[in-house]
Amino acid sequence: MTKRITVIAMGGTIAMTPDAGGGVVPTLTADDLLAAVPGLAELDLEITARTLFSLPSPSITFAHLATLVSAIGEEIAAGGTGVVITQGTDTIEETAFFLDLTVPGDTPVVVTGAMRHPSLAGPDGPANLLAGIRVAASPAARGLGGLVVFADEVHAARLVRKTHTASTGAFVSPGFGPLGLVVEGEPRLLTTPGARHCLPVGPRVTEVRVGVVPTALGDDGALLRCVDGFDGLVLAGVGAGHVPEPVVPVLADVAARMPVVLASRAGAGAMLTHTYSYPGSEVDLIGRGLIPSGFLDPYKARILLHLLLASDASRTEITRTFARFG
Ligand code: ASP
Repeated sequence: MTKRITVIAMGGTIAMTPDAGGGVVPTLTADDLLAAVPGLAELDLEITARTLFSLPSPSITFAHLATLVSAIGEEIAAGGTGVVITQGTDTIEETAFFLDLTVPGDTPVVVTGAMRHPSLAGPDGPANLLAGIRVAASPAARGLGGLVVFADEVHAARLVRKTHTASTGAFVSPGFGPLGLVVEGEPRLLTTPGARHCLPVGPRVTEVRVGVVPTALGDDGALLRCVDGFDGLVLAGVGAGHVPEPVVPVLADVAARMPVVLASRAGAGAMLTHTYSYPGSEVDLIGRGLIPSGFLDPYKARILLHLLLASDASRTEITRTFARFG
């Protein structure tokens, strides 16, 4: 039976064309993107195009993501073998992790995009889309959850980060590397990302507000005094989950009012839980109710906390769920 892949376009550089002012804006449809990919006809796939949005990715909201999850569900229910989402690269890592958490089942869900828009020499969009389609159609990608395919690399949604503003190799999975590569058009996956954790898209998904607050040398907690109105917070600590001592009482006060997840601005590695015990250390902060993010970086921790709060999860459930990402 012919495999059926759906390409869902959401905008981004991959879909951008010049406007009157000389900059680029998203205009191209999913059909346009597919028309620019050579060799699709030889793949023996039934490819369906669906244009859901035409947005620069910083403007994607949780309402858009909830609509995307429903659209993916429809394609899977209609017998889809795999789904490829195209969007701007700036927030790919957040969309991909949201889908990893919320699309149940084994159907591959791949997110891709481009760093060079179609009017530049050597645009990478068509190659990324072709590689994404090949991965979405591959039996090897089944059950792996959300994936980001970029520059012929296949990354797990829960690990991947955009680490360069302009390079076509902007996506890396710090400390782990990609799950595999697309070699001569064949997805070759050598590792797996481990067990998934699936959550519903809760009824409060468009209402919840979770902030990310960084700390830095010399911080006295001034920003943390301005978080009223948030439902939860991710603290991007230094190192393995630390803050300057003057921040501690302010943070403890916030943590008494809302869940605060402790992540790291370091860029790779897991949060420590029982090594340092000075004021502002991870032992001190966990003792004051902060919840360590495990291996999740601050922006992925924000997505997970957002989804948990959207379903009114208790602190115990939140702590237990984050522990699964350690
Ligand atoms: N620079 C972005 C991109 O790669 C713009 C966006 O994220 O929409 O698509």
